[in-house]
Amino acid sequence: MKILLLGASGSIGTQTIDVINKNPQDFTLVGFSVGYRTRCIGSIIKKHHSVTHVFLRDYTKLSYYKKRYPNVTFIAERDNSISDLIKMCNSEMVVNALVGFSGLLPSITALKLNKKLALANKESLVVGGELINNLLASGHGELYPIDSEHSALWKCLKVDDKNVKKMMLTASGGAFRKLSRDELENVTASDALKHPTWQMGAKITIDCATMINKCFEIIEAGYLYNYPYKKIGVTLHDESYLHSYLIYEDGLMRGELSKPDMRNPIKFALYEGKIPFKTQTFKSLDSLKNLHFHEFNKERYPLVDLAGIVLTKKGTYGAALNRSNEVAVHAFLKGEISFLDIERIVFKCMSEHKNITHPTLEQILKVDNDINLKATNIVNQIKGGKIKW
Ligand code: NAD
Ligand code: MG
Repeated sequence: MKILLLGASGSIGTQTIDVINKNPQDFTLVGFSVGYRTRCIGSIIKKHHSVTHVFLRDYTKLSYYKKRYPNVTFIAERDNSISDLIKMCNSEMVVNALVGFSGLLPSITALKLNKKLALANKESLVVGGELINNLLASGHGELYPIDSEHSALWKCLKVDDKNVKKMMLTASGGAFRKLSRDELENVTASDALKHPTWQMGAKITIDCATMINKCFEIIEAGYLYNYPYKKIGVTLHDESYLHSYLIYEDGLMRGELSKPDMRNPIKFALYEGKIPFKTQTFKSLDSLKNLHFHEFNKERYPLVDLAGIVLTKKGTYGAALNRSNEVAVHAFLKGEISFLDIERIVFKCMSEHKNITHPTLEQILKVDNDINLKATNIVNQIKGGKIKW
C-alpha cells in the first residue's frame, strides 16, 4: 500500500512511521507533510527512498531541502496547499494526522480522489461530517478511523452490530480529573499538558482536560457509525485500558482491552481492518477488578453535552464548535485566558450561532472564518479586562 502521511512530525505521525517501518512488506511511504518541525525530514527520506513528495509549512527551509534532496519534489505552504500534495503524490492511502481544522480540506480532497483515508483528524468529522459522509456515499473513497475509541468500536461492531442498545466511549477525564470545578479556575497550561495516560500533541491534551475531546468523539462516532446522540454514552475510566464498548439489548457488553498505545489503532486502520483482532465480552465492569470506572458527570464536564446539538441539528454547529475551541485553546496555551474561559468562549459562540442546515463547503469555510473573528474578539476583550463572566 502506497501511503501519503499528513502531519508526519506530530504524535500520530511519528507513530504511523513506526508502524510503516515495522511492516515494510505491506507499506511504502511515498510522501508526507510537516509543519515547522522540519528536522525529521532528512531522517524520514533517508529511511524511505520511496518518498517522492514532501510538503512543509516553513517556506524558509524550502530551497535548502530542494538542493539537499534533488530527487524529491518539495512544496511549501506559501505556494501550495496540502490538497495539492494529495493531488501530486501517487498514493493509495492518505493518513490524516493533522491537528484541528487544517485537516478538513485534505480529508475532503482525499475522498474526492477516491483514496483510502485513515483518519486521526477527528475535527474533519466534527466540522464536515455531513460532507464527508456524502462523499463516502457517492464516491469510491474509504474511511478508517484511527482514534482509539472508534477503532475499538469498529472491531466490536464487526463481531456483532445487531441489537446494540448503547455505544459507550471511555474517557480518562484528562489532567484535572481529580479537581472540582472550583479548583479549575486557576490551573495553568503546563498543568493541563500533563495527561495521566496518553502522550499526545498539545491541542488534544488540552481538549482532554476540558473534555471537549469526548464531545468531538461522540460526534465522530455519530457520523462514522450512523448512531443518534441518545445511543452514545460516556464512562469515565482511569487507566485507558478499555478503549470503548457496546452494550447490547440482552445486557451483554463487548469491548476492546489493551495497554494504551496508539500504534494499535493506527496499524488496524492502515490494514483497513483486515488483520486479526481480539475483542472481549464481559457481564459487568465489576469483573475487571484492577480497572476503575466511574459514572460520567455532565455538570463536571459541561462541554460534552454540546455533542447533542451538533449531532441532532447538524449544519454548521460543528464548525462553530470547533473554531471557537481552537481559538480558545490557542489563547489558553499562550497564557492569555484562563482554563474555564475556554468553555465560556465555546458556549457563547455556540449559543449565538445561527445554524445553516446542509451547508456547502463554502458556507462551512465562511462560518469558520466568522467564528474565528468572533472568538478572537472575545479573547481580546478578556485580555483587556472588558469581560466579566
Ligand atoms: P500534533 O500536534 O502532535 O501533530 C500535528 C501535526 O499537524 C504536525 O505534524 C503539525 O506540523 C501539523 N500541522 C498542525 N497545524 C497545521 C496546519 N495548519 N497545516 C498543516 N499542518 C499542520 O497532533 P497529534 O496529537 O498527532 O494529533 C493529530 C490528530 O490526531 C488530532 O486531530 C488529534 O485529535 C488526533 N488524535 C491524536 C491522538 C494522539 O494520541 N496524539 C489520539 C487520537 C486522535
Ligand atoms: Mg480518542
